[in-house]
Amino acid sequence: MIHDPGNGAARTLQTISLSADLAIAGGGLAGVCAALTAARSGVKVVLAQDRPVLGGNASSEVRLWILGATSHMGNNNRWAREGGVVDEILVENLYRNPEGNPLILDTILLEKVKAEKNITLLLNTAVNEVEKSGPSRISAMAGYCSQNQTLYRVEAPLFCDASGDGILGFLAGAAFRMGAEARQEFDEAFAPAAGYGELLGHSLYFYSKDAGRPVRFVPPLFALRDITQIPRYREIRASDSGCRFWWLEWGGRIDTIGDTEEIKWELWKIAYGVWDYIKNSGRFPEAENLTLEWVGTIPGKRESRRFEGDYILRQQDIVEQRRHADAVAYGGWAIDLHPADGVYSELSACTQWHSKGVYQIPYRSLYSRNIDNLFLAGRLISVSHVAFGSTRVMATCAHNAQATGMAAAICSERKLRPRDLLEGPLLRSLQRRLLAAGQYIPGIPLDDPSDLARRAAIRSSSRLVLHRFPADGEPVPLDCSRAMLLPVPAGPFPMVCFLVDSRESTSLEVEVRGSSIEGNYTPDVTLYQETVGLERGRSQQVWLRPSATAVKAGYFAFCLMRNPAVSVYTSSLRVSGLVSLSHSMNRAVATSARQEPPPGIGIDSFEFWLPSRRPAGRNLAIQIEPPLDLFVAENIRNGVARPTIGPNAWVASPDDLTPRLTVCWSEPRQIGRIELCFDTDLDHPMESVLMGHPEREVPFCIKRYRVVDSRGDVLFECPDNHQTRNTVRLQPPAVASELHIEILETYGAPAAVFEARFYER
Ligand SMILES: Cc1cc2nc3c(=O)[nH]c(=O)nc-3n(C[C@H](O)[C@H](O)[C@H](O)COP(=O)(O)OP(=O)(O)OC[C@H]3O[C@@H](n4cnc5c(N)ncnc54)[C@H](O)[C@@H]3O)c2cc1C
Repeated sequence: MIHDPGNGAARTLQTISLSADLAIAGGGLAGVCAALTAARSGVKVVLAQDRPVLGGNASSEVRLWILGATSHMGNNNRWAREGGVVDEILVENLYRNPEGNPLILDTILLEKVKAEKNITLLLNTAVNEVEKSGPSRISAMAGYCSQNQTLYRVEAPLFCDASGDGILGFLAGAAFRMGAEARQEFDEAFAPAAGYGELLGHSLYFYSKDAGRPVRFVPPLFALRDITQIPRYREIRASDSGCRFWWLEWGGRIDTIGDTEEIKWELWKIAYGVWDYIKNSGRFPEAENLTLEWVGTIPGKRESRRFEGDYILRQQDIVEQRRHADAVAYGGWAIDLHPADGVYSELSACTQWHSKGVYQIPYRSLYSRNIDNLFLAGRLISVSHVAFGSTRVMATCAHNAQATGMAAAICSERKLRPRDLLEGPLLRSLQRRLLAAGQYIPGIPLDDPSDLARRAAIRSSSRLVLHRFPADGEPVPLDCSRAMLLPVPAGPFPMVCFLVDSRESTSLEVEVRGSSIEGNYTPDVTLYQETVGLERGRSQQVWLRPSATAVKAGYFAFCLMRNPAVSVYTSSLRVSGLVSLSHSMNRAVATSARQEPPPGIGIDSFEFWLPSRRPAGRNLAIQIEPPLDLFVAENIRNGVARPTIGPNAWVASPDDLTPRLTVCWSEPRQIGRIELCFDTDLDHPMESVLMGHPEREVPFCIKRYRVVDSRGDVLFECPDNHQTRNTVRLQPPAVASELHIEILETYGAPAAVFEARFYER
């Protein structure tokens, strides 16, 4: 028993002092991905998170789905899911949690952070103080954990602010902005006009469930009574819940940090008012048995401080996809701004303008310009308000945070400041280490001199030479234009034959389209066009015989233009890096199948050509003449681990029952580690919560494989994989002049490998 009679003197709380190589404030997706990336590179990290679980807006406390450049598959960014740790998290979440339960995502984030011996996690610990050792240097951060009445003080040479609102940067005196820049500052034509407002507001959601019997709801006194105060109230559906109510937003006119509690009360008023309307207005008889299961208690914050780095990313970087020598990450969500009056605004709840492809994020936007040892990660990075409209989504935040985490590792190893990494060799080392860890940086391939595959001869048991997608699927109507997106080498286009049914004799427009920017998939350049006559009847061949030439290798859309009298056959065959498209719209992120911005706002007009999700989404049945011979084993060492201007994967022939890659060296080599990258379909957004997915594992992914030496001895066997990246450690290291990677099973599609790298240790 403890009995302290007290002597009348005030007591002080215990203080625990910690030291680390990197101290991170904020355990949202950005803080988590920065911490994991740094810790896996050997950096001792302290991660302080003011709430009981990790994930920030993705956690079960707020329940937003993690999104990024894939944009719900609603724009032309193909194979754009972010790589690295955030990919690992999303793939794991798909595997464990295809139903999208936010509690399961919490456990995945907690598990990954707890498993990392280099991370000291301080949950429920709110950072509220910094100490400085000079005007531009932080020496310690301190926080308070209300659960154990403990003060923590963390000393470190490097700090990372991933707190969303920027607690570290603010306290340390870092330059920041809050609100919108005037149009002239960066010549941003989409800078909000007066009246629209300068900040995005917060949101807070509810989930409901069917209780199996009628449930009464008596609203609290603070609930909104007059639903017509919400101009969009007619769009409320009893079946909607969670982030489908993203537009229940408020607070953009007041201080989104200082007034957060006030904003929360208004959002509770709105949430309970909406539920009162659903339950008690008489308009939703289907809500009779529904009851509230959960109402958010912490509002999701969209926007507050943005800190100034050495570069402020702006609208033109996004729309024109400007290149940066110091690119370390990328984005691809639309520029998505909301009226500051939020749910009470008469204006459209959001304005989303996509670019034609993904854009680079430079390293100069990821550290403070005036605090020498402060990294930035997540939504608070150095971007203009307009650019923030795109960079703010969580997978993009996570991806930039991974760059921050890796940069911190290099700074820690070499005792450098963040800005020092701008020097050529250091910057290349940062990019290289990021790419090796799975980060994708558009336009920058991995060139790793220590990868022994570079000095090997590579063979495969077979390779896919793609000459057809068999017509074993149902025809789909050409009620919209459809296309196969095919990788084509430079030179004359191949001929492509579709199989169609036609209800009448008609003529069908066929086209080959490419993209105006290399590496994009927006089919905005028509390279060949022809009209083909069709008779009434089934199973007719439509040959597209383009007389044009592909000046450079790339993906091209072989299109059948809209004709509702015609249907085109589909195929059940799925192949890595191949997808069919339709000229259509995804209401979640667009208002029409063609983006038509008003003039003068600096946004491009173009068409959306979108894939459909599995299981419905299928390739079109085609024959290709000459066949596409691009799925060669050499691809595993070309430094690009996703489709870009080509499939970049070795794909085995579908007939090959024992697919195998062989790597040979002229003399025996010690191999201690092999890095493999499989195809988990980077086109799949893998929304983390609310929205279910029909599959746990991706059909293109390798399930079972093994590493075998020339004597046939099995050096390693993986019995059950579902992840993109596999690190194989050979214990003891093999000494071999030949190794085989044998693919024993996939989840359905022909075996595919994007990358296989071999290291001495
Ligand atoms: C309503 C709404 C809808 C959105 N829709 C989407 C969407 O559909 N998909 C999507 O990807 N993005 C969406 N976003 C944007 C996205 O959620 C945010 O931009 C993103 O969460 C930012 O990530 P972050 O890690 O920087 O910040 P956060 O997710 O906010 O994480 C920051 C973390 O830091 C913690 N923290 C704050 N202060 C301290 C402190 N003093 N000490 C310690 N910890 C601290 C916070 O508790 C939080 O957990 C939406 C945002 C909102 C609000």
